[in-house]
Amino acid sequence: DIDVHLSGRTRVLTVSNQKGGVGKTTTAVNVAAALVSIGARVLVIDLDPQGNASTALGVPHTAETPSVYDVLIDEFPLADIVQVSPESPNLFCAPSTIHLAGAEIELVSQVAREHRLKTALEEYLAGDHRLDFVIIDCPPSLGLLTINAFTAAHEVLIPIQCEYYALEGLSQLLGTVGMIQKHLNPSLYLSTILLTMYDGRTRLAQQVAEEVRTHFPDAVLDTVIPRSVRVSEAPSFGQTVIAYDGQSAGAIAYREAAVEIIQRDRATVNEGGA
Ligand code: ADP
Ligand code: MG
Repeated sequence: DIDVHLSGRTRVLTVSNQKGGVGKTTTAVNVAAALVSIGARVLVIDLDPQGNASTALGVPHTAETPSVYDVLIDEFPLADIVQVSPESPNLFCAPSTIHLAGAEIELVSQVAREHRLKTALEEYLAGDHRLDFVIIDCPPSLGLLTINAFTAAHEVLIPIQCEYYALEGLSQLLGTVGMIQKHLNPSLYLSTILLTMYDGRTRLAQQVAEEVRTHFPDAVLDTVIPRSVRVSEAPSFGQTVIAYDGQSAGAIAYREAAVEIIQRDRATVNEGGA
């Protein structure tokens, strides 16, 4: 069995990459469900107007559903919009709706526009909501929604698709993280890179993995997520792959990644692995 120790703090990770289709949402929901399957309480915040994370977690998110939009624009408490995923009583989702598409522009004229999510999350955690992890699923851009995620988070998790020139665009992303560190959130850091959609039969996948590991030896998880039909099918059943087919290669890999994320906690490592 897995020997994992949760830290007792709430770790806030934002899953970011300004490219679309690289596996952000898939990683956000499956890492979350995998963490829950090994004993954690986890909130996923869906910051993408597409609402794919809300769908995958089986949470309603029609236009009428109270959502992250109401939190960011009308300062609703997060507690008023968070839903429990039917998958587990320890898995929660702050859903996105189509209204969030307008928030990027509406936020521009608002006070403390970069801090809206951080403030809402701090209030939520100061209430009676014990969580081990908050995982934020970002849209494919570096606009104000992603900046809100970077400002609210401690850690950045970058999924990298092992199929294209992976480092392309990464310097822009890391440049933004650096800017956020300097001006908005000094404690933000790149904690985790997860290689996804890995097909070990192709030379390209091996090359991409090798190259990313060379550039980021500390951040890249040992676990890689294989390309798997089960992973891509799960959302159409309103499920994560952990619930949809817990014995599939994708589910096993996401659980291994979750264990690594818990064990590689910088705070715990610095305390000597307590
Ligand atoms: P993003 O959120 O970055 O846009 P998604 O997580 O939605 O990316 O993934 C893009 C597409 O790739 C989706 O259709 C998803 O089902 C598929 N996908 C993601 N990870 C895997 C995987 N490990 N195996 C197979 N398909 C995957
Ligand atoms: Mg997505």
